[in-house]
Amino acid sequence: MSEAITREIDRSQMRISDEVAIEIHKMNKWYGTFHVLRDIDLTVHRGERIVIAGPSGSGKSTLIRCINRLEEHQSGRIVVDGVELTSDIKNIDKVRSEVGMVFQHFNLFPHLTVLENCTLAPIWVRKVPRKQAEATAMKYLEKVKIPEQADKYPGQLSGGQQQRVAIARSLCMQPRIMLFDEPTSALDPEMIKEVLDTMIELAEEGMTMICVTHEMGFAQAVANRVIFMDQGQIVEQNSPREFFNNPKSERTKLFLSQIL
Ligand code: ADP
Ligand code: MG
Repeated sequence: MSEAITREIDRSQMRISDEVAIEIHKMNKWYGTFHVLRDIDLTVHRGERIVIAGPSGSGKSTLIRCINRLEEHQSGRIVVDGVELTSDIKNIDKVRSEVGMVFQHFNLFPHLTVLENCTLAPIWVRKVPRKQAEATAMKYLEKVKIPEQADKYPGQLSGGQQQRVAIARSLCMQPRIMLFDEPTSALDPEMIKEVLDTMIELAEEGMTMICVTHEMGFAQAVANRVIFMDQGQIVEQNSPREFFNNPKSERTKLFLSQIL
């Protein structure tokens, strides 16, 4: 179990609204002939913090990449913020600007400074004036506690600092939903906490979040629901307490015995 969560968490803003943020219904996806996601049903309400767990290759990344259409699904429905993801390209920009994504390997632009990484999309996609984009970027760099790194290049920062820049960069687009795909898996242990702390703060402010993570301490402290995937299916979903203390399926029990 992760020791990374050491502080009290303020749940006062973590209210779950009746409003649906993401609705996925009978969604299937294939890579060629490989059936990678099978009949996925998932409803996420605004303010929910969902952790997706499951063995490697179970389809966790593919599922969250379908939510901002980095991958296309072939059948069923995905509706994000009231917009159905279809092959109609008009929908995609709107959805992508509402949904921030943070990856395992940060994916910062190495030839741009931290500040430029944070202002690029607001200036070119959202058409925000440069001065305003820079002010917003500094606000979020302060939030992730690295404003002093604004003029450095990603290669000059530690992994934990780079990941916090990646989170700040996403926040600069003012997303309503944040997707995290194993954001701490590439980090040395001493840097995991600083990234989790940033994610906890977002949760405390009421952000709707879906996090693929092996940080079960984070799941227990922050998630309101844990989803367990195996072989392209959602096998089980429950509150963290039930999920960890009273897993239903044999596959979940086996998984927990391996990671805890
Ligand atoms: P997870 O994130 O749970 O490890 P992924 O969603 O990355 O799982 O992958 C699910 C399955 O799909 C794996 O078997 C993986 O090899 C396969 N896969 C992932 N991406 C592709 C791709 N672009 N083309 C073909 N197969 C892929
Ligand atoms: Mg993955």
